[in-house]
Amino acid sequence: MLRVAVVGSGPSGIYTARALVEQTRVPGVRVDVLDRLPCPYGLVRYGVAPDHEKIKSLQDSLRTVLEDERVEFVGNVAVGAAGLGPDRLLELYHAVVYCVGAAADRALGIPGEDLPGSHSATEFVAWYSAHPDAPPAGVPLDRPCAVVIGLGNVALDVTRILLRGAAALRGTDLPEPALGALAASAVREVSVVGRRGPAGARFTTKELRELGALPGVDVCVDEADLAAEPAFADPAAVPAVVRRNLSVVREWAARPPAGHDRRVRLRFFLRPVELLERGGRVAGVRFERTGPDGRGGIRGTGRHEDVPAGLVLRAVGYRGVPIPGLPYDAERGTVPNAAGRVLRDGVPSPGEYVAGWIKRGPTGVIGSNRPCAKETAASLLADAAALDLAARPLPPDPVAALRASGLHPVRWPGWLAIERAETALGRELGRGRVKIAEWAGLLAAAGAAQGAAGGAADGDGGE
Ligand code: NAP
Repeated sequence: MLRVAVVGSGPSGIYTARALVEQTRVPGVRVDVLDRLPCPYGLVRYGVAPDHEKIKSLQDSLRTVLEDERVEFVGNVAVGAAGLGPDRLLELYHAVVYCVGAAADRALGIPGEDLPGSHSATEFVAWYSAHPDAPPAGVPLDRPCAVVIGLGNVALDVTRILLRGAAALRGTDLPEPALGALAASAVREVSVVGRRGPAGARFTTKELRELGALPGVDVCVDEADLAAEPAFADPAAVPAVVRRNLSVVREWAARPPAGHDRRVRLRFFLRPVELLERGGRVAGVRFERTGPDGRGGIRGTGRHEDVPAGLVLRAVGYRGVPIPGLPYDAERGTVPNAAGRVLRDGVPSPGEYVAGWIKRGPTGVIGSNRPCAKETAASLLADAAALDLAARPLPPDPVAALRASGLHPVRWPGWLAIERAETALGRELGRGRVKIAEWAGLLAAAGAAQGAAGGAADGDGGE
């Protein structure tokens, strides 16, 4: 039997587990999917916006993989923390696939970035997604004007959540404190600002159009911001997604505002140079006007514009975090690899693999992880066949070994107990299922399975 640990239970981890068990080349593969959190699904649970119910429902297909008898969910196990590094994992498994995503956010590297009132979009997302590591106080929504920096899908997500209105979010699994804060929010105007023109934006058109469909919200685009965009002169020369985005912003620029009290301003060709301070907190952002450099990039013009804001969300991308004991390319924020094989000093390290954002960087939609995971699984299976990875003797039960070293894994019955507790919480609040946002609450709920199963922290009957 080939025993594999997949570290991370987001889409890339689960697609990797599926690719490993749904193949015929190497018989008898068993996969433990480890996660730092007691809950599976990674960014599908903790990143996809609550109003994107269709994408959220992807959990149903990910779930079938974790319910496969050849796959085990092993939550509440922090790989990389003391005592559970790559060396130890290779003592417990024949092969390890790291699918840990990109947990940090990119920095702007400009003065004022850390002022009170300036937050990374990932902090805001983590809070409204009930991530147990998010500070419970969340992000203050007590000022009327916000600036969101960046032209990616995360920028659109946070803008939509800021302006959608709590009533429309009540039917989602948004945690109660975030729902209350959004109901009391003072935010009325959100400027989404990018350093490139609309052709250089990274958002997808479906997500862009959603802004225009927000009830009671005007989307304003200033013709002057579009004037410098060369792609308008020859739309046929740009990819279809860019062409569609251009047509949406052009339509918005031509449309007079309806006079709603909430507003999105979509701004282009403005590069942030400094966050401005007043009274010890952020008061706005100073931008430098940019323009096309004629080679597909942008250049500064030396002209500046200040946009007032009591809240700044920096949505400028994610960044991979190193795992102690694993090689790391600090420039790319990824683990060096060849077709998913981890490279140590440029040489493939048999038994160690990566998939997802830690392999290729934080780009692409959820579906992009499927071919990525397949490639990594193929490398692993080829190595298993060529190097007989399964020949190495291992302790009989890796999860028992994890427990013996002081960890308290939450297994599938524990997760099912969390799901039941979230449904019960929603019922109490007169809502559908509502997420539990605190570590203690999640672990207590998982522990309910422990009681029912007679003493095992993971509900499997103990050792
Ligand atoms: P992203 O797509 O990489 O966009 C980041 C944005 O930040 C870009 O506009 C980038 O501009 C800008 N930026 C980076 N550094 C900057 C700087 N120093 N100053 C000003 N602007 C800067 O990242 P993301 O929005 O975090 O999304 C990450 C991935 O998740 C993407 O693949 C995205 O599609 C995916 N995602 C998908 C969905 C969905 O499908 N609904 C939802 C959320 C996220 P430049 O291009 O100039 O660098």
